[in-house]
Amino acid sequence: AGVEAVLAGAPPTRSAIHLFSLVNRVALVTGGHRGIGLELALAMAELGAIVYCLDLPAAPDNDWFKVKKYAAEMPDVDDQLGKGRLEYMCGDVTNQQEMWKASEAIVEREGRIDIAIANAGITQTIGCLEYPAEDFKKILDINVSGVLFTAQAVGRQMERLGIPGSIILIASMNGSVANRHWMGYNTSKSAVLQMGRSLACELAPKGIRVNTISPGYTHTSMTKMVLEDKPTLEAELSAQNPMGRFGRPDELRGVALWLASDASSFCTGSDIRVDGGQ
Ligand code: NDP
Repeated sequence: AGVEAVLAGAPPTRSAIHLFSLVNRVALVTGGHRGIGLELALAMAELGAIVYCLDLPAAPDNDWFKVKKYAAEMPDVDDQLGKGRLEYMCGDVTNQQEMWKASEAIVEREGRIDIAIANAGITQTIGCLEYPAEDFKKILDINVSGVLFTAQAVGRQMERLGIPGSIILIASMNGSVANRHWMGYNTSKSAVLQMGRSLACELAPKGIRVNTISPGYTHTSMTKMVLEDKPTLEAELSAQNPMGRFGRPDELRGVALWLASDASSFCTGSDIRVDGGQ
C-alpha cells in the first residue's frame, strides 16, 4: 500500500501470518555490527528484510565475523516469509552528510528504504559537577544528533519515494529515571524520547511512523564496560528490578519486529519499555 492508502485508513489486506513479514523491505540499522543493533538486524533479516548495518569503520570488537557468517548461512526461515540478507556499511552517525550519503547509497542499490533503527549510542558514567565539556558534547553528538541525522536521512528518502516507513529510535529506560553519575546518558536519552514524539507528529501526515524503544539494562559490550568498573553493580541494579535480572538483546526482537512491520500500522509517537518492569 502507498502513502495514500495508508492515510485513507486502508482496510487490512494481509492475513495474520503475513503481519510481521518484512519481505521486500529494506532497513538501515546504525550501530548494527554488535550488541542490540546486530540482534535486531538479524531478526529483521530472518523475516525477509534486506538490512544495512552501519557502523564506524573497523572497530576492534565489532562482530564482523558473526555478521558475515550469518549473512552467508541465512536460514530460509519460512518459504512464505522468504529470505533476507545483511549488508555492511561504514558511516558515522554524527556526520549529517555521511548519513545522507548512506541513505542515498541504499536507495541507489535497493530502490527503496522502509525501516530505520537509530540504535548507535555510547554511555558514560561521570559525576555531574566534574563533567568535561568535550565528553558532554560527545555523548550528545552521538546519542542525540546521531539519532536525528539518521531519522532525517531516512525520512527524506521515504518522503521522496512515497514510502510509508517505520523509524525506530533506541532510547533507554534511563531517559525516564535518574541515577547517580549517569546524568549525561540520561539527558541524551530523554532527548531521544522527546525527539521520537516530535518526529512522529511531523511525519505522520507523510505516512511515516516514528516510535521509541526503551530497553532496561541489557547484556552487551556497553554494560560489560560499565560492570567492569564495578563488579557488584549488576547485583545491585538487578535487586532494584522486579524481574531481578538484566535483559538479553534477543528479548528486544519482538517489539522491534512489531514496530518495524505492518503489525503496528496505527502506532506512532509511542515509547515501548522493555525493562523487566523497572
Ligand atoms: P554497544 O556498545 O554494544 O553497541 C553500540 C554500537 O553503536 C556499536 O556498534 C558502536 O560502534 C556504534 N556506534 C557508536 N558510535 C557510533 C557512531 N558515531 N557512528 C556509528 N556507529 C556508532 O551498545 P548496545 O548494543 O548496548 O546499545 C545499543 C543502543 O541501545 C544504544 O543506543 C544504547 O544507549 C541503547 N541501550 C542499551 C542498553 C544496555 O543496557 N545495553 C539499555 C538501554 C538502551 P563501535 O563498535 O565502533 O563502538
